[in-house]
Amino acid sequence: MEGNWISIFDISFKCQILAALAVLILIIDFFRSGRLPLRSTKLFGCFLIVCLFNLFTDMVSVYTVYNFRNIDPTLNRLIHMMFYCSIELMPLTLFLYVFYLFGAQKRFSKPQRLLCAVPFVLAAVGSSLTPIYYISDEQGAYSYGPALTILYSAIAVYIIGIYVIMFKRKCSSFHNDIVNDVKRARITIAVSLGIWIVVAIIQFFNKYMLISSIGTCLMALYIYLCFENPKRYADVEIDTLNRSAFHVMVPEMLARKKPFWLVSFTIDDNEQISKSMGYDQMKIILRTAVERLRVVMPKSRFFHSRTNTLSVFVTSSDQFEALLKTAGSSNFDVAYGSSTFTPQYHITVMECPKYAATPDEIYEMLDYVLSHHHKHENGRVIYIDENTVKDKNYRKQVLALLTKAVQEKAFNVVYQPIYSAEEKRFASAEALVRLQDCGELGFISPEVFIPMAEEQGLVADIGSIVFEKVCSFAAENRLWEKGVNYIEVNLSGMQSVDPSLPAQLTSVMQKYGIEPKFINLEITETASIDGGELLDANMKRLRSLGCHFSMDDFGTGYSNLAQMAKVRFELIKLDKSLIWPAFGENPDEPMVILRSCIKMILQLGSHIVAEGVETKEQADFLTESGVNYLQGYYFSKPVPGDEFLAKINAV
Ligand code: C2E
Ligand code: MG
Ligand code: MG
Repeated sequence: MEGNWISIFDISFKCQILAALAVLILIIDFFRSGRLPLRSTKLFGCFLIVCLFNLFTDMVSVYTVYNFRNIDPTLNRLIHMMFYCSIELMPLTLFLYVFYLFGAQKRFSKPQRLLCAVPFVLAAVGSSLTPIYYISDEQGAYSYGPALTILYSAIAVYIIGIYVIMFKRKCSSFHNDIVNDVKRARITIAVSLGIWIVVAIIQFFNKYMLISSIGTCLMALYIYLCFENPKRYADVEIDTLNRSAFHVMVPEMLARKKPFWLVSFTIDDNEQISKSMGYDQMKIILRTAVERLRVVMPKSRFFHSRTNTLSVFVTSSDQFEALLKTAGSSNFDVAYGSSTFTPQYHITVMECPKYAATPDEIYEMLDYVLSHHHKHENGRVIYIDENTVKDKNYRKQVLALLTKAVQEKAFNVVYQPIYSAEEKRFASAEALVRLQDCGELGFISPEVFIPMAEEQGLVADIGSIVFEKVCSFAAENRLWEKGVNYIEVNLSGMQSVDPSLPAQLTSVMQKYGIEPKFINLEITETASIDGGELLDANMKRLRSLGCHFSMDDFGTGYSNLAQMAKVRFELIKLDKSLIWPAFGENPDEPMVILRSCIKMILQLGSHIVAEGVETKEQADFLTESGVNYLQGYYFSKPVPGDEFLAKINAV
């Protein structure tokens, strides 16, 4: 029997030693790595220390319970009380950890803080006033009694609290990183607590089996490896913290309720650098930038927050000024092959919470500035201010309206008559889309919402709505019988390369009985240069049916003349930016360009539409120069369908 007693004691003790060693290694690793300064991370650190304390008191209490007859009862009780407290501290620290983790680092209010401590205090007082009984016989040793029952009740309260918090938090965030983190944390903590509970149940039914140390160690290990390992936030290549770390740190900074600046360094021409030099070169540029910035802010943490962006949180105004001074005047030159490469960059400064008070507002603002920053001089500092916020919110509202308008097909189409210089009458018209908000936004220019629709993948839907309205209007009024030769319809760049375009247009034309030759499709100069083979195939197919094409906005793109000669548009639309300067303050050179363009296009065999004709002088000159069609406010603004009908009937 003596042998059995010793072997069970031996096994428990070995388990405890191993568990304590494992947790000690975790603690050393955890405190040595560059952790994020988050409340939840600090609490996880506390939790690890509590686990170690628990394993230590467990070891001592196992020893004293085996030898309780030879040990001073007060000392034994004291050691057991410490052991019980340490057990209870584990779910308490875990509860606090979960509260911060799932509450986006929000702080506790005073009543909440008091409420958290209530089960712990009650259990500590209750178990210190009630008896503990000890068993030590040939099968082994353990303790029991009402003190333990009170302890279990308090633990149950915390565990229920943990599950409630975890499953109450909804996964709705602007960033997938955070949504995935919440899901991952929930699974990790649920599983680790599950392990702990299973071990506790085994021990409850097998009183001599003192294996709680294994449960504690496994729980700590599991959370550490799956979720709290600080290394998962490291961007080793650039020697910064990664994007997930940034998204976790933002709520923490806001929860501190102290103003801060979020300063971001963005390398311009991201795509060109990655395309021509490879993404590795971008990493080298960023690493070099971090090294230089660290000289000014040696203690700050830098985040690789977007592909080509580094961000840092600054809390003191001295540091802020020093950083901007250095960053604005330094260059981030890097070696490239045998020479050096000077990347262009800009700096965005966002004062929080003044201009962005929630994590999603911060991300939206950052993305907004990144995608709407137009290159200026190198090292330019962009301060986010009321106007940026207004502009961003305007775009957000427009986007919401746009999405709704697509669903409800709430776009209107207006027609701008096109004057034939030869026939001296309106011979055609351009269909232009209109979006009107009944609320504060009012009229929204297609120049604003068409590019947004392209970004959001909505432009094809708008194109179909417009095309259907045009065909329906033309069919209803039998426009071809009223002297309208054709209607010009704009195609966006994305639409023009969509392989399903010919089939779509054909089915709508058939539905309304419109002959393809009545439709002239406008493709912008830039889209026609970028379109490649997909555009060629679409044009070929639609041409074979009878549709015609115009090159829109000639003069605004790169004027790829070789391409223009090859594709052969039936109509070329001269952009107003080519026409207006020829009638402006310094008309000489612009006039030469305008004349030459007209001559060249006519010689290539295309017809010309002049856009933006606003004066008689312009109209007369263009007519004399051989321009075939004139479009502009001088003749008519874009008007609703019925007004257009009235205009053509009047001529
Ligand atoms: P665009 O195709 O070059 O259309 C001509 C633009 O110039 C129209 O602006 C028209 O109102 C304006 N305009 C015409 N004559 C004059 C003038 O004499 N003076 C001035 N200042 N402006 C004049 P709008 O309607 O705002 O359209 C802007 C652009 O939005 C269009 O340029 C076109 O690129 C795009 N867009 C319009 N409707 C559609 C559409 O249904 N689909 C697509 N994809 N794009 C469209
Ligand atoms: Mg157009
Ligand atoms: Mg145009």
